Amino acid sequence: MNRFSRRRFLNTGMLSALGVAGGAGLNIWLPSAETTNSEKLKSPLLAEKEKKIKIPRRQVRGTAPINAQFPNFGERLTLKADLHLHSVFSDGDLWPEARVEEAVREGLDVLCISDHIEVQPHQKEFISSDLSRGYELAAPRAEKENLVLIPGLEITRMEPYAKHLNALFLKNFSALKKDKFRDAVYAAAEQECFIFWNHPAWGQKEPKATWYPEMDEFLDAGVLNGFEVVNGFEGNASDCQLDVLEWALQYKVAPLGNSDAHKAIPYLFDWSSGGHRPMTLIFAKERTLAGVREALFGGNTAIYYYDYDRGERIIGSREQLYPFFQSGLKCEFKFFKQKGMLEGLLWNSFPFELKMKQILSGQIQEENVIYVPPGESTCEFKSVVLENNLYFEVENFVIGKGKNLIAEYEIILS
Ligand SMILES: [Zn+2]
Ligand SMILES: [Zn+2]
Repeated sequence: MNRFSRRRFLNTGMLSALGVAGGAGLNIWLPSAETTNSEKLKSPLLAEKEKKIKIPRRQVRGTAPINAQFPNFGERLTLKADLHLHSVFSDGDLWPEARVEEAVREGLDVLCISDHIEVQPHQKEFISSDLSRGYELAAPRAEKENLVLIPGLEITRMEPYAKHLNALFLKNFSALKKDKFRDAVYAAAEQECFIFWNHPAWGQKEPKATWYPEMDEFLDAGVLNGFEVVNGFEGNASDCQLDVLEWALQYKVAPLGNSDAHKAIPYLFDWSSGGHRPMTLIFAKERTLAGVREALFGGNTAIYYYDYDRGERIIGSREQLYPFFQSGLKCEFKFFKQKGMLEGLLWNSFPFELKMKQILSGQIQEENVIYVPPGESTCEFKSVVLENNLYFEVENFVIGKGKNLIAEYEIILS
């Protein structure tokens, strides 16, 4: 039982004051009917005063451990996935089983080794040219390690520019060997694959995400189901395209973040400074292949990304991120009128420090920044209170280009 489980929480309602559409506010403590009178007089905030620690004001740095744990919410489990990377069965450096071991080491729940169909420079070293062989080798190790392994491949066409799509949940690998790009995509669609657009900014005429005409056709036909917003091919300098996030939101497909690793993961990402591969967080009803499939097709995803300049980021739609955030950060804020001070008691079950800036009358208050470490903490800062509720911009939660999640709390007046 954590310290919040004995309390009653109140949903604070819409973010109408800021013109933020949809969704309910965060859960806020109120005395419950069972609380005694003396307990009612003494809020948990005051009761915990002795334990108070000053939150250091510092830059957000990677604090997530390997095997970071995320909160589940509602009926959904938060699974960590890498849906795009390579083995020696295309142009990767590692044997498929070694990819499984890396994923287990980093605490992943779900993996898809999506080797290129058309790029297989190591082929002369192998006896088998079967496209499914890499999956067959990795599957027993994944089963032993309790890792959900998705059978998949990368359709890899370069003329006149990169058109790379991943096809997941393949049943017949060789059916994707086609002369024409479109035929390969529809061969995957016939198998009811989850198909997503890889690294939209790589291999284009200009170094930016570039739409190509077949996209409209595939979206109209309902065969394109996700866009890769973050691609980790360059290791520490992973590519994050918030334009692509906006497109994913517009077309209502799943936003995804994957390593696209060709080299070994520890070679690409600097764990010692808090870095890690980009991951897709999959909000699934069960930790099985069927559960993952249902969640992906339903767009129940977010991206867990370490930005080496700005720290940990969760990226996705507001629809997915708001309930996820609500489940991971519990807060109560109390306003001391005479001192003009706000005090907060916070419980952060995300595996990294959150950076939150107060918003007052729609304006971000650059001075009123709180850094919320994992676990329990308190904070205090000077503030006027003009509105019934307290608003924060959460810098780590990105819901669009130049847009961060806004969290709302009810204020307890002293
Ligand atoms: Zn590719
Ligand atoms: Zn790739």
